Amino acid sequence: MSADQTESSSTPPRTAEHFDAVIIGAGFSGMYQLLKLRDHLRLKVVVLEMGDGVGGTWHWNRYPGARCDSESHSYCYYFDDALLKDWEWTERYPGHEEIRRYLNHVADRYRLRPDIRLNTQVRTARYDVRDNVWVVETSQGQRYTSQFLITAVGCLSAANVPDIPGLANFSGRWVHTGQWPHEGVDFRGKRVGMIGTGSTGIQCAPEIAKTAAHLTVFQRTANYSMPANNGPLSAEFKQYVREHSDEIRQVMHSTPNGHPFRFCDRSAFDVGADEREAIYEEAWRKGGLQFRASFRDLLSDQAANDTAAEFIKAKIRQIVHDPVKAEILSDIDHPFAAKRPPIDTHYFETFNRDNVELVNLRADPIEAIVPTGIKTRNASFEFDIIVFATGFDALTGPLLRIGIEGRNGLRLADAWREGPRNYLGLQVPGFPNLFTITGPGSPSVLTNMPVAIEQHVDWITECIDYMRKHGLSKVEPVESAADAWLLQVQAAANATLLPKAHHSWYLGANVPGKPRVFMPYAGGMAQYRRLCQQVVERGYDGFELVA
Ligand code: NAP
Repeated sequence: MSADQTESSSTPPRTAEHFDAVIIGAGFSGMYQLLKLRDHLRLKVVVLEMGDGVGGTWHWNRYPGARCDSESHSYCYYFDDALLKDWEWTERYPGHEEIRRYLNHVADRYRLRPDIRLNTQVRTARYDVRDNVWVVETSQGQRYTSQFLITAVGCLSAANVPDIPGLANFSGRWVHTGQWPHEGVDFRGKRVGMIGTGSTGIQCAPEIAKTAAHLTVFQRTANYSMPANNGPLSAEFKQYVREHSDEIRQVMHSTPNGHPFRFCDRSAFDVGADEREAIYEEAWRKGGLQFRASFRDLLSDQAANDTAAEFIKAKIRQIVHDPVKAEILSDIDHPFAAKRPPIDTHYFETFNRDNVELVNLRADPIEAIVPTGIKTRNASFEFDIIVFATGFDALTGPLLRIGIEGRNGLRLADAWREGPRNYLGLQVPGFPNLFTITGPGSPSVLTNMPVAIEQHVDWITECIDYMRKHGLSKVEPVESAADAWLLQVQAAANATLLPKAHHSWYLGANVPGKPRVFMPYAGGMAQYRRLCQQVVERGYDGFELVA
């Protein structure tokens, strides 16, 4: 950074540019929010984006194998039929390059780029009570003020690099999957260690193994995964999608996870063992997250869940030839789908390759990273490259790494010291006119994200429109509404098996010191949509709106 870009605390602040709304982040949510506020409400809006391109999460997650687990025809905007008609996905599950192409297409199609400032990282955002404005400062020294501040920072965008002693001394190269170098990483002939077996590691390992001399996978918690059964989309399917977009949208809006398929309305015990096995077999053959929808009670009844879990564990033992590896991979300690279930392309098969090794960290934990590689309690491994597929400081991380300060100097980090507390995942008491798109407390990561994003953006836009039409300048939830919502979020989670995965990132358990609170709203997207609508119909019940 050059001297003229910096601004020390003693330097007088630069003149601020004023906007009606500042949006942080140019991914799916930030771009749609820009479009709605600028083109529908005719507001003066700017998007501040720290990356050098649009795409948000997909701008950074470029690791080999990075692919979405929502089917491509549902992993896109549905607000404009014309956009749906002029974009054609090529594969069942969209890869990261194709998603970036899509989001760039959207940026061009709606002429969003002039209002997006790239390479602009928001450092602080402070609410000025006197002028009722947010004062936003960037690491590059710019200053903005706005009536509304809208965070569109994503849920899984703050990379979690574990604090393993010795990393700084590693003589090779290390990378985190969520901050993947744009030029790629050449694994050819290299000895690679990969830590983490979540959705990311499970996608990444088969690709790394194809070119690396040797890959060692370090597994702490064994994970379920099912085949994605990815492949090119047929001409017939593409035509079906073009002709049925209304129907697909309707299904996505009426299902708990916002996916374009419905849950079967039968219990796992409405059928006999043989029929159940045949249903799972067929779902496994089809592949994808739809497996979870085979029975309605897989995520609410432990015994029902056990039937799915046992089926998948048996599959793992069948696929993996080495019985020791098979045992480590299938020794799963949580209910199926209580952590986000990954879908894969030949993950378990990868362990049949001669150049792939598996280390069970439960039996032999990592002690340190040494200059030559990784040292566990019982062994040493030499690596040229270490890949951290260790996930994210999810949901709250992307918000808390911005210094957000509300009324009376209240820091968001302090307001959320015991865990995130807000109303509908949209607004936090003490932070007027701040909206958090797909914030904690909303269905967000438990859904097909674009569906959740469109609902949030539409709700926020309607709220701002309402305020302007009624001469209102400030909106903020009342404390009692936030208290009640927090209880509702916990009750929704407790009605499922989700909290039984004690070490999941849904609970913040993957980041040392993070409060253990189940963060997303698990009551289902359709139910959440109804609740948000009711709040509007009751005159923004739970919010205080003032002139
Ligand atoms: P993750 O689910 O949090 O998995 C991180 C992995 O790293 C876990 O296996 C974890 O073990 C391990 N780990 C973390 N810290 C460790 C340490 N200090 N030592 C050893 N192991 C450690 O992260 P992710 O795989 O990046 O996935 C995050 C989410 O992103 C997914 O759940 C999904 O929502 C989304 N995602 C989606 C897709 C897709 O659409 N297909 C792809 C990638 C990611 P423990 O389990 O023991 O903590």
